Amino acid sequence: MNEGLSVLVTLTLLSALLSMILLIVWGTMGRARHALTWAVAFGVATLQWAFNICDYLVGGRITLFLTVNALAVLVAGLIALGFRQRAGRGDHWRGLLSGGMVTIAVIVVATLVYPHAGVTRSMPLLYRAIVLAMAAAVVVPPGQRANAAERSVVAMLWMFVIFNILVAAVALSLEGTENFGDLDRWILLLGLPAAFTGTGLFAVLLLASDLSGKMRRLASRDPLTGVLNRRGFEEQATLLIANAVRHRQPLALALADLDRFKAVNDRHGHAAGDMLLSRFAQQIDGAVRQGDIFARLGGEEFVLLLVNTTGEAAVAVIDRLRCEVATQTLPTTPPIVVTTSFGVAELRPGETSLDTLVARADRALYLSKSNGRDRVTLAPVD
Ligand code: GH3
Ligand code: MG
Ligand code: MG
Repeated sequence: MNEGLSVLVTLTLLSALLSMILLIVWGTMGRARHALTWAVAFGVATLQWAFNICDYLVGGRITLFLTVNALAVLVAGLIALGFRQRAGRGDHWRGLLSGGMVTIAVIVVATLVYPHAGVTRSMPLLYRAIVLAMAAAVVVPPGQRANAAERSVVAMLWMFVIFNILVAAVALSLEGTENFGDLDRWILLLGLPAAFTGTGLFAVLLLASDLSGKMRRLASRDPLTGVLNRRGFEEQATLLIANAVRHRQPLALALADLDRFKAVNDRHGHAAGDMLLSRFAQQIDGAVRQGDIFARLGGEEFVLLLVNTTGEAAVAVIDRLRCEVATQTLPTTPPIVVTTSFGVAELRPGETSLDTLVARADRALYLSKSNGRDRVTLAPVD
């Protein structure tokens, strides 16, 4: 069998498989819109390669040639649209579409009106290069560090961009020579299966990595208040303590326990209690410095870790917070006012364990409770 034909058959089958895989991923991994867009893109790619086979077999049919090119443009546009949707910029479809229409119009003119084979060959490649570069630009969310999957997807997209520009340049530079149509086609046939499979597989990798990131974030958050839960706190606090020890910086931990909270539930109902817990958490979470962490340990108990802060400085900060939260009320009649008791402990020289720090803050909290509640107690360093 002819080599060109066998590559086209491979591409048709690969695209169909990738479309199915992406459709399954879309259905089973959170139904992200961009997964569906990518599944459709590879579905259209299947058609594109099938028409390409027809074009290859019958040859010289302008309608088939134009259909293949229009589908190629559509596939590139849809793949890029998926990346834009993932970045929350799905509204850019109009730009991608008008770019695609212009590309197709130029191909039609260069085929029917002013025949120029170099332009017809290179236009879909250049469109693909531009939209994939636009896709690569939005893989990593602004202000965030790229994870391994994002880094590899960006690298793959740029390789695909360079590949397309290279083939387009070869097509344009060989126009009018006797080698025209051979070299660029061969480079395409050799590179496209890898580029297409790579795009599909990396899209699946990105979807899986996004989902696992979302699961990790959910697993470390408290659903009622939205702040970190015990597990999320322990993960981050361990790192911050190690950092404080390494840089010999002070660090303080404060435990908070809402006073007589059971009575709130008993008197006003569990829903009012929940609302109060949420408000308390939002208030403190909004007040902590960047770099400090705040979490709900469970029930009406919370924890704050203050980096680069001594015990005494922490007591001053926490006492201000205590006064602020004690003024919060729920819009009930009569309004509910809840106070909070705190226990603060500073990391001792030589202390490296979160557990011992929490245990000392807990003893200080117990003192706050037994001394009348609504106060902050600093654990002795002893
Ligand atoms: P103290 O001042 O000694 O801390 O008294 P307290 O009533 O706050 O302490 P206690 O440990 O006896 O009661 C804690 C209460 O917190 C019991 C439970 O009803 C309530 N609670 C725990 N988790 C939740 C929650 O998720 N929602 C609501 N509404 N209440 C909760
Ligand atoms: Mg309690
Ligand atoms: Mg309590």
